[in-house]
Parts: sequence; structure tokens; C-alpha cells
Amino acid sequence: MINPLPSSTEVCIVGAGPSGLACALGLAARQIPFVIVDALEVGHNSSRAVLMQASALEALGTLHPLLPEELVSVGIQSKTLTTIDLQERIVFRLRMTDIAAYTKYAFSLLIPQHRVEHRMREYVQGGGNNIHWNKRVTDVKEVDEGSQYELRFESGEVLTARYVVAADGSKSFLRSFAGIRFIDPYTKKEAGPGKNDLSFVVADVLFASPLPSNVPRDGLQMMIGAGGVVLTAPMLGEGSAGAPPQNNNLFRLYLGVPDTPPRSPDAAYLQAILDARGPGSHSKLHPVPQIAKVLDSSRYRTRPALVDRYRTSMAPAGGQGMNMGICDGIELAQAIDEHRRSAFNAEKSGTTHDAVQIMDAYSTHRRSVAAQVIDMVESMTQVEKGGRGWGAYLRVTVLWAVFKLPFANCVFAWKISGLGHAKKT
Ligand SMILES: Cc1cc2nc3c(=O)[nH]c(=O)nc-3n(C[C@H](O)[C@H](O)[C@H](O)COP(=O)(O)OP(=O)(O)OC[C@H]3O[C@@H](n4cnc5c(N)ncnc54)[C@H](O)[C@@H]3O)c2cc1C
Repeated sequence: MINPLPSSTEVCIVGAGPSGLACALGLAARQIPFVIVDALEVGHNSSRAVLMQASALEALGTLHPLLPEELVSVGIQSKTLTTIDLQERIVFRLRMTDIAAYTKYAFSLLIPQHRVEHRMREYVQGGGNNIHWNKRVTDVKEVDEGSQYELRFESGEVLTARYVVAADGSKSFLRSFAGIRFIDPYTKKEAGPGKNDLSFVVADVLFASPLPSNVPRDGLQMMIGAGGVVLTAPMLGEGSAGAPPQNNNLFRLYLGVPDTPPRSPDAAYLQAILDARGPGSHSKLHPVPQIAKVLDSSRYRTRPALVDRYRTSMAPAGGQGMNMGICDGIELAQAIDEHRRSAFNAEKSGTTHDAVQIMDAYSTHRRSVAAQVIDMVESMTQVEKGGRGWGAYLRVTVLWAVFKLPFANCVFAWKISGLGHAKKT
């Protein structure tokens, strides 16, 4: 039974995606009252993230030790991330196992985003908190001399909250309300359509059996070459009637495309790309995998963008957006907790509390993490683009040489894992 939306709360989290849910878990763990709302009927189920890194698993584990274990049990542990060229020669193979000394999650977990969100929602609701769906925030204003916010919903309700968490995604309404700009970190201009945007197609497909052996079922593989990336990420399918998830040729494909693809590409469109530049397309050793069924498909454009401040997103390369969102959300819950305590102590002792400093520290830290991640993702996107010519050849040769060095491999695996970004306490 869903309780109606209350008229006031301490914290209102707008958006029940991974960032909002992570913040909700963090607040619940600290027993801070909150309300979480989302404009959707119920959570996302479109094909988006598939890679979860150690940093997000570790961060969730600080709140609920069983949660990461449960996610791991319904995902595939990709112990290596392999990049091959059109002739299927290994360009480089990143060994995530090299970070085993620092984490028990020394792999990238291949798990669809909707499954991660589903489990996080169960934990939020298990703690006795409703998620209020179908609640689109349409207006926000400061009230009570700036000590509260008043949020108005499309459905007519009004809610006041002391803190508002803008976890409402890359097209955030709240960000605009707060006057926070979304800027291209390289041009420093407002992020918007540009010539460096990448178009790609994401599709969940079932491949026909037998699956050719050049399409690994236990790890992520990225094929680069002229025309764009072909990335295959195996996933476990839903097990029938309570059975554990099955490894049944279910794959998420990320296909770079030079032009604007159809809104929801069909099997023929996807197969044509695989035939032209997928595994088996340029080798006589293996056939091209055949698509038996398309379960879901959509198109995306990506561009780097960073908010100019975190108080008051991302290309899929590197699998970082959802991970960062989860870590942002958990760290924000911690900052809100510190902020409340500081205000309480100041009131008790009759001193002034430095409201701005705590939130600024959060903003500075998370923004610097985001900037570093964008740099890494941009470098990886250059590799993904492939292409012909000396530039592309040199990039690949340098990477091939660098990844021969165990130290370089370990450093890069550490970067991808996001473990170095955790807040120092
Ligand atoms: C194709 C693709 C592949 C990706 N692959 C990866 C990957 O492998 N690994 C990875 O880590 N990341 C990946 N990402 C990025 C990841 O999907 C996003 O970074 C992540 O979803 C961001 O989470 P979020 O909670 O911040 O926002 P969202 O997931 O966008 O959630 C925002 C929520 O806010 C709600 N909302 C919006 N406006 C309002 C409003 N006015 N009122 C109420 N609710 C509102 C929305 O309905 C939505 O539910 C990928 C993204 C794409 C597009």
C-alpha cells in the first residue's frame, strides 16, 4: 500500500534512478527522514548501463553488505576487458584482476541497469520508505526566508522540504531552477549538440546457437575499426519462475554509427552492422553471430558535460555514469547528515554554523571526480571511434605497448574501477 505524498519532509529526492536511490539508501541508513519521487510510472527499463565497477559495489556495501553480493550473483564477472581489431587481433586486454589486493570486486560486473535499480528499490522500500511514482516536479521556490523549498507537482500536490536532491537526470529540471549550468568541460560552453557528438545504438539481443567462439560469453569485448565500435556485453537472462538467471546468449550490443540511426533499430539494421564490422566479419575462422531476437533497442547521442557546481553525465565508454551517480548519491547523504548535525550543534551552542562549507566540500570533491572521469572516458572514446589513418594506428600501437606493462595495466584497472575516488575520511 502506497502512502500519499506528505506535505512536508526533511529531504526530498527528485528522481529514483541510481543516483536518487543511492542517496535514499544513504539517508535511510542515517535515519534521516526523506521522500523520494519520480515522474515515471515505475522505474526505467530501457537498455542503458551494463557495466558496474568496484567503486559502486564497495559504496553500496558500506550501507548494506548483502546488496553488492546479491547484484554480483545475478551478473557476469568480466575479469578482463578486451579490445580487438577487425582482424580479431587483440589490441589490448585489461586485466581487472590486477586490483584484487584492493577489493573483492576485482572485475567489472556485467548487469543491466534496470536490475541494479530494481534491487536498490527493494532495499529502499524494505526500509519502510515509499517511492512516489508519477510525481513530476514542475516548480520549486524558496520559502520561509530561504530555509525551506516548496515543490509543486504536475499532479497538484505541494511539498515543502529543507533539502532538495536533484537526482533528476541529465536533462534536470532542478538544475535549471538552481541556475546550475551544464557545460562542455573542454570548450567551456553550454553543453549542446555539437560536431563531436557520437551516435550509437544500444540493443539487447538473443544470438542464435551455436554462439561463435569469438563472441565471449564471460566478458566484455570491444571491436574497433573503421566505422565505429562494436561492443558485445553478455548478460544473464531472467530465470523462469524463481530459477537463477541463465546464461543463454543474451547480449547487450553497443554499436557506434556514423549517421542518425532509426529510433528503435530492428534485427535487419543491427545484423547489417555486425556483418560489416562485427566479430567474424573480416575473418574466415569464425562466422558472424546471428541475431535470433531483438528484445529492446534504442539510439543515443553522447557528449561530455559537467555541471558548473554540484550543490543547490556521460558517454557509456568505461561504464562510469551509473557508478558515479551511485557514489555521488551516497556521499551526498553523508554531506546532508554532516550539515544537519552542524546546524543542530550551532543552534544548541548559540554559535553560527558554516552551512556553505560542508556542501562546498562535497561539491568540490564530486566535481573533481567527474572531471577526471570525463577525461578518461573521452580518451577511451577516441579509441572506440577507431578510424583509419596514422592517428588511429598510432593510438592503438601505443595502447598495445602500454598494456604489455603490468604496472600500466594495474593503474588503468584501478582508474576504471573508480576506487581511487572514494572520499578520504
Ligand atoms: C546507452 C547508455 C549506456 C550507458 N552505459 C553505462 C554503463 O555501462 N555504466 C555506467 O555506469 N553508466 C552507463 N550509462 C550512464 C547511466 O545510464 C546514467 O549515468 C545513469 O542512469 C544516471 O543515473 P541518474 O540516477 O543520475 O539519472 P537517471 O537514471 O536519468 O534518473 C533520473 C530520474 O529522474 C526522473 N525525473 C526527471 N525529471 C523529473 C521531474 N521533473 N520530476 C520527477 N522526476 C523526474 C526521471 O524519470 C528518472 O527516473 C549509460 C547511459 C546510456 C544512455
